[in-house]
Amino acid sequence: LRESVPARVPAPRAADFPVAAIRRDFPILHRPVDGNPLVWLDNAATTQKPLAVVESLVDYYLHDNSNVHRGAHALARRATEAYEGARAKVAAFLGAGGPEEVVFVRGTTEAVNLVAGSWGEAEVRAGDEIVLTELEHHANIVPWQQLARRRRATLKVVPIDATGALDLDAFRALLSQRTALVAVTHASNVLGTVPPIREMVALAHRYGARVLVDGAQAVGHFPVDVRALDVDFYVLSGHKMFAPTGIGVLYAKREVLATMGPWQTGGNMIDRVTFGGSTFAGQPHRMEAGTADIAGAVGLGAAVDYLRGLDRERVRAHERHLAEHACRALAEVPGLRLFGAAPGRVAVHSFLVDGTDPVALAAHLDRRGIAVRVGHHCAQPTLAALGEAVTVRASPAFYNTTDEVDALVGAVLEFVAGGV
Ligand code: PLP
Repeated sequence: LRESVPARVPAPRAADFPVAAIRRDFPILHRPVDGNPLVWLDNAATTQKPLAVVESLVDYYLHDNSNVHRGAHALARRATEAYEGARAKVAAFLGAGGPEEVVFVRGTTEAVNLVAGSWGEAEVRAGDEIVLTELEHHANIVPWQQLARRRRATLKVVPIDATGALDLDAFRALLSQRTALVAVTHASNVLGTVPPIREMVALAHRYGARVLVDGAQAVGHFPVDVRALDVDFYVLSGHKMFAPTGIGVLYAKREVLATMGPWQTGGNMIDRVTFGGSTFAGQPHRMEAGTADIAGAVGLGAAVDYLRGLDRERVRAHERHLAEHACRALAEVPGLRLFGAAPGRVAVHSFLVDGTDPVALAAHLDRRGIAVRVGHHCAQPTLAALGEAVTVRASPAFYNTTDEVDALVGAVLEFVAGGV
């Protein structure tokens, strides 16, 4: 079956991308799973780490480990340099105005909660509106729901069409002087849709609204320039861009961040503490209470270096090539329904096969060493908009190959044929 797929579905001309060499950078991709080669197609959940990132962690702990900012000794200086160096790398990677616009957090979820807890508590008033979309991950819904409840604000939701594209007319119609914030994903983790962020930001700003963009699924796929997009907040998780878990980023425009009070309080974020009261450090340190994930930041810096060392246009072309190949091959499977067809989407393939159990399908793929996700993908409203409760999701990254896509499709065909 595996051999039959390429014959039935001619692959588009291979993009000129050194995928074999790239794969050598990711040792885990060569690990067998129950005797099968691992086929990692769960990149929307988390990405694998290049050796350079793993080595940066080992190197940091072997040679430089210290707390930062406080110890007057060599290792503290080295750790501080590494941590602040990583901040500068992230700032340049995102096109930020400077490192002082970059706050280290645990991940996207924590970044959204930070903005809701600091900016939101101060700026969102009774009667205000927060505009979300049907493409959002729960991380970009629930914190706003909780804030809206506390502040007696209202949520408004931009619908998607049958292809998974945002209804921009509906978006325009939802904006008003009452709009305090627009919170929108840069790439859907279910459908791969990439909304027209620049246009949406320009529209929202006409009403004086702030815009937060959830970049969790975007930064691993294409370059992002936060100043070109003119977003007020941009949030991401390191682990979805080939960096370690436990580290993420909040970018906030300098003038917005300057107005934001502390979110969590304690050590490292203060200027002066007395029992009569405390004053706080400047940004971004005001937002980083307690000891940070210093090694995680170093690993994120290494992931940024790794990505910047790639030709990202070629990465994009290779991913497009993989996505086209996957869509064409999956469409050949009898009864398979693919969700998401908005133009310009990133490679996220959500599907169901009529008359089969998606959980059993994913379990079958797992037995063949193929890692996909099955479930609601922490985006229940997106699934509800599709009229579904779960999908199987295969999400490639640049280190995946057309052979791996063929292995996926072959195993799906095998399952459908009932031979398992
Ligand atoms: N936003 C999107 C679009 C996501 O895909 C995810 C993770 O799946 C998140 C937010 C949450 O990221 P994290 O769990 O790393 O905080």
